[in-house]
Amino acid sequence: MPINNGDVTIWQQCVNPACGAKHGIDRIIGKCDSCGGGLEYSFEGTWDGIPGDRDDLWKNFPMIPLQNPENIVALGAGGSELLLLEELSGHLNGANLYLKLDCHKNPTGTFKDREASIIMSRIKELGLDNLVFYSTGNTGRAYTHFAAHLNLNSYFFMPRQCQYKNTTFIKKNRENRIILVDDHYPNISPYAKKFAQANGLTSIAPLHDRNESYATVAYEQRQQLPDCRYFAQTIASGMGPIGFYKGHMNMIQLGLETGDDIPTLIGIQSSQVNVMARAYNAGRKELTAADMPAEFPEDLFEPTLNSTNPVNNYPQLYHCLKENDGIITDVEPAFTERKGQPLVAALKKRGINLRTDVERSLLIGYSGLVKLAGEGRFEKGENIMLLAVGRGKDNCTELIEPDAVIDPLTQDPVELFKKLN
Ligand SMILES: [Zn+2]
Repeated sequence: MPINNGDVTIWQQCVNPACGAKHGIDRIIGKCDSCGGGLEYSFEGTWDGIPGDRDDLWKNFPMIPLQNPENIVALGAGGSELLLLEELSGHLNGANLYLKLDCHKNPTGTFKDREASIIMSRIKELGLDNLVFYSTGNTGRAYTHFAAHLNLNSYFFMPRQCQYKNTTFIKKNRENRIILVDDHYPNISPYAKKFAQANGLTSIAPLHDRNESYATVAYEQRQQLPDCRYFAQTIASGMGPIGFYKGHMNMIQLGLETGDDIPTLIGIQSSQVNVMARAYNAGRKELTAADMPAEFPEDLFEPTLNSTNPVNNYPQLYHCLKENDGIITDVEPAFTERKGQPLVAALKKRGINLRTDVERSLLIGYSGLVKLAGEGRFEKGENIMLLAVGRGKDNCTELIEPDAVIDPLTQDPVELFKKLN
C-alpha cells in the first residue's frame, strides 16, 4: 500500500521502462518484485517546499520515505548551516563559496549521517535487526552509531587500511561489531553479503534509499540558497551528486522547479583514484571491473575515496552529469595540500574543526574548485555550494578496537559469526 505523507505519496518504482511496477514503502527491498529491475522512489501529489519546524533533515519529512514521524531517528543529522567564506572568493574568480557544514553539524561528523538517519528510521519502522553492512569507513561508522542508539545488533565490514580513522567518537555497544577486512576493497562487499546470507542476517547495503538521503541536500539548498549556480562535492562512488540531482528531479516531479533551477553539478576526485573523472572526460558511458586498478598504493592520499563501488554507480552518475552539463575534475595530492590551506585557515578562524589528519576529502573538493577557476570556470557573484564531506567535529585520536580482523579468502562466515557472538 502506498503511504500518504501529508499530500505527497511515495512509491518504490521499478526503473525498467517496460515494467514500471510500483511498490509501497512498507518494505526495504532492493529489486522489483515483478521483473527484478532496480528501484527508485517516485513522488506524487503536492508539496509547498517549505521546511517544517525542525533543525535536522526531517524538516522535509513529506519528501522522505517514512510512514510515521514517531519512527524518526535523527540524532541531529542534516539541516546543516550554509557558511559563506567570503575571503576565498579571490581564489574562485570572484564567485561566492558557501560551505554546507555537514561535517560540523552531523552526529558522527560526516554527510553520511543523512543516510544512516533515513535508513535506521526505516529499519526502526519495519522492526528489523541483525544488520550487515560494509563501507570504506564513514558510512559504516554512521550506521554503527545509529544502530547503537537503537540497541540493534550490527556487523560492519571495513577495510583494514581505513582503521586509522576509526576513532572512538561514535557510540558502539558490544552488539555493534566492527570487522576489519584484510583484502582488496572490491572483495569486501561479496564477503559481507555472504556473511549475511550464511547466518540469516539482514544485509542493508547498498539500498536505493540512499539516493533519498542525499536528495535532502537538494531540498535544503533550495531553501537556503535558491540562486545556486554550482553544486560541488568530492566523490568516491558518486552517490552524493546522484542523490542531490534526484532531489531536484523529485521537486520537478511535484512541479516545484524546472530543469533550469538545478545547479550545475561538479564532482571532484583525487588524481590517485580518478577512474570516474577519466571515464567521464573521455565520454565513456560505463565502467568495468577492468577499469579499476589491480592494486592501489599503500600510501593513498585519501583512502576513503577509493570506493568499493564506482563501477555500479557510474552509469547513473554519467546520466545525471550529461543531462545537467555537469563536470568531473581531479586534483593531485600536492596541489591539494598547497591550495587547500586557505580553506583550513578560513574554518579555523571560525572555530570549525576539520579533521584533515583523518580525512582530506573536503580539501580535495575545494582545491578542485580552485583548479576549475584556474581553467576559467566561475564568474564574479556566482554562488557555489560545496558540501563539506570529510570528517569534522570530534577531536578524538583513540581508535576503536576491532572485534575481528579477517582474510575473506580463508575466513568461514559461519565460524566468524560464532566467534563474534
Ligand atoms: Zn519491474
